[in-house]
Amino acid sequence: MDKGSPKAILLKDYVAPAWWIDTVDLSFDLHEGETIVTARLGIRRNHEVPRGPLVLDGQELELLSVAVGSRPLGPDDYACTPDHLTLNDLPDDGAVVEMVTRIHPESNTALEGLYKSSGNYCTQCEAEGFRKITYFQDRPDVMATYRVRVEANRQAYPVLLSNGNLVDQGDAADGRHWALWEDPWPKPCYLFALVAGKLVHIEDRYRTRSGRDVALRIYVEPGNEDKCGHAMESLIKSMRWDEEAYGLEYDLDIFNIVAVGDFNMGAMENKSLNIFNTKYILARPDTATDTDFLGIETVVAHEYFHNWTGNRVTCRDWFQLSLKEGLTVFRDQQFSADMNSAPVKRIQDVTRLRQVQFAEDAGPTAHPVRPESYIEINNFYTPTVYEKGAEVLRMYHTLLGAAGYRRGIDLYFARHDGQAVTTDDFLAAMRDANPDRAVDWDQFRRWYAQAGTPAVSGEGTYDAPSRTYRLTLRQTLAPTPGQPDKRPMLIPVSMGLVGPDGRDLPLKLAGEDEAVTGTRVLALREAEQDFTFTGVAASPVPSLFRGFSAPVKLSFDYTDADLTFLMAHDSDPFNRWEAGQTLAARLLLGLVADRAAGHDMIVPASFVDAIGQTLSRAGEDPAFTALALTLPSENYLGQLMGVIDVDGIHAARELVRGTIGRSHRASLLATYHGNAGQGAFSVSPEAIGRRAVKNAALAYLMAAGDGEGRALALAQYRTATGMTDVIAALALIADSDMPERADALSAFAAKWRQEPLVMDKWFMIQATSARPETLAEVRALLSHPGFNIRNPNKVYALIGAFTGNAVAFHAAGGAGYEFLADRVIELNRLNPQVASRMAKAFARWRNYDAERQAAAKVALERVAHTPDLSRDVYEIVSRSLEG
Ligand code: ZN
Repeated sequence: MDKGSPKAILLKDYVAPAWWIDTVDLSFDLHEGETIVTARLGIRRNHEVPRGPLVLDGQELELLSVAVGSRPLGPDDYACTPDHLTLNDLPDDGAVVEMVTRIHPESNTALEGLYKSSGNYCTQCEAEGFRKITYFQDRPDVMATYRVRVEANRQAYPVLLSNGNLVDQGDAADGRHWALWEDPWPKPCYLFALVAGKLVHIEDRYRTRSGRDVALRIYVEPGNEDKCGHAMESLIKSMRWDEEAYGLEYDLDIFNIVAVGDFNMGAMENKSLNIFNTKYILARPDTATDTDFLGIETVVAHEYFHNWTGNRVTCRDWFQLSLKEGLTVFRDQQFSADMNSAPVKRIQDVTRLRQVQFAEDAGPTAHPVRPESYIEINNFYTPTVYEKGAEVLRMYHTLLGAAGYRRGIDLYFARHDGQAVTTDDFLAAMRDANPDRAVDWDQFRRWYAQAGTPAVSGEGTYDAPSRTYRLTLRQTLAPTPGQPDKRPMLIPVSMGLVGPDGRDLPLKLAGEDEAVTGTRVLALREAEQDFTFTGVAASPVPSLFRGFSAPVKLSFDYTDADLTFLMAHDSDPFNRWEAGQTLAARLLLGLVADRAAGHDMIVPASFVDAIGQTLSRAGEDPAFTALALTLPSENYLGQLMGVIDVDGIHAARELVRGTIGRSHRASLLATYHGNAGQGAFSVSPEAIGRRAVKNAALAYLMAAGDGEGRALALAQYRTATGMTDVIAALALIADSDMPERADALSAFAAKWRQEPLVMDKWFMIQATSARPETLAEVRALLSHPGFNIRNPNKVYALIGAFTGNAVAFHAAGGAGYEFLADRVIELNRLNPQVASRMAKAFARWRNYDAERQAAAKVALERVAHTPDLSRDVYEIVSRSLEG
């Protein structure tokens, strides 16, 4: 960064604005080559703060005129810098400020503000994109009603959309037409949206429980109409679920979704005009995998749920981002758990949390759920704000119970509907709605303030004569950047004691009158705390953090036999899975250590047997079995090591996979065939579960390394009609040296070259192969006609997937790092948000050996010295080099 380092924004500097903007009247004149935006802002003094000028934010705007009321201003009447337009001496009783600006959507590659995707206009304003459309107080505590006129050529842009209700439309001169939209609900500008394009739509209706008829429309590019059905079903399910689970109803007569191919994130909750990445709308069984179908259900729900958690009640400032995101992720997790299998969903969510959020919490970009400072807010749409934020919500739910949680939610909306508030306001509502609950809320608040993943350790002792079981738990929280000293957290420990017969024992803490059987929640509040259970009939195995009741790392002194016992008997399905994962991680890390010490790696028969037990129960719950058969990922295993042994982890994991494949050939084949070909295609949880376990079996058979698995994979690839099975087989083939590999890959590309989302999968499976040729192939794919570095989905599929490929990205010699630095530098000019997401892959470079560290540092420094480095990339790279 040459022009001095960019400045950090601090939470403690928050002040309310000197002026409110109550009404916004926008007029867009869309022309090829330029767009003219006229904005009329109805402003009013905020008498609660000292008088000051009206300071409007702007970025890359060409100001054509300014007027206050009917009086045009001359250049001496205002101050205009590249980032601000400042107006002094405005009348105390308010005014209408009118500004005309010129912008250039067609050359906007950052995909923020107004831009074009496949020739259609669309917007993305969160977090601070509205300032690229017109001058405005671009902050979420400024809420206004909007009236928006859009005018464009009728033929090229037949569809003209904005927020709220369509109130008028008509023709204009020169083959143009216009539409006028009005949104009655006051909103912050980050929820503004506009779409103009050649789009088609599917339509449905929903009647709310109080009788409002809502028109539901999903707009897509022509040719994609037949891929919208699942998204529409998901929307209707979400609307019903929010009424039933939260008592929240939709509040307008129209709800529109538009899917665009160029989008930085998953989707955006603009009021009544959600804009989605096509990845989270378009699905047909032959083009989308089960993961895609489930992702669509979750993201459609997430954006719909924002209508209350985010839109009706919004954030005071961007430090409060988790107020809406953590809460809305928790809501979409609850919804998806209700629609599918709750334990399977929980296991998937925790796997993701550990993989990405725990990694973030352990590195140089670690930050609290409610950060205290940022340079670029776009860098804070993180797993910590989203996924750890959702865990905080889940902990309220665990501590207060479903009814207490709901009372808190109801009070939150009763108090704050229509307001821009803070996470403290949310906590206060939860607290005040539950006065009889003995929760130390000041201690609970540390979940928002302290970064890092708490480590919980402990042990238990059973005393047979007194029939007591003493459970000792300890917690520590390591320093994170800017937070050297930490205080103990309030950690909800949902737990049970499993008796020798495999059943939950009654739980009675010393001093209590009555026992509860099953699960109870302990509050771990001290650095070290004892819990003494009385009346314990026999020596139990404790089952701790059932359902993963807190986002912590647990190390408890279980024997391998204890873990095998919990795998078989724990009444909590999450902990049955967890016991297997703990055992597998223990074993794999042991093998890595053996290899590092120059010893042979020998897979213990007991572990292979345990997997055999899991396989033998595959018929009872296929989806769960698929998860239980999956070994901890290489990236997760890396987190458990001080210095990550990239090659050792890969070698150990492959050895175990091959051993399982060879040892259990017969039952794997039985599982494969027993779950293949189940009649008509369906995305029911049962059908998805059968495909998952079948493909898990196929992967093991392939890992066995002989002809049988290969033949099965090839046959599946050639005959399957659903994309889940096609991709599962092709991924295995692409990760092998089978002679059919090249033909299979090129046949797939020839078939699907017109379907960008399907091609993303093709890029991804090549980028995630552990073959030594992968980096060279990824480089070559950059010039494939289907690749385009300006399209975020392509970047995530090829470059992002490659950075998640541990053996390839972290290969000795540093070629992977060099490759990534080149891409980040290239993306920095085009799309800073995407560049910075890619740059985050460097963050944990200090956890590798000296040689790799040296190579990563060279790459990072090269990025740091790039001219015109965006704030986005600067913040990530400078933190990584400091941390
Ligand atoms: Zn969200």
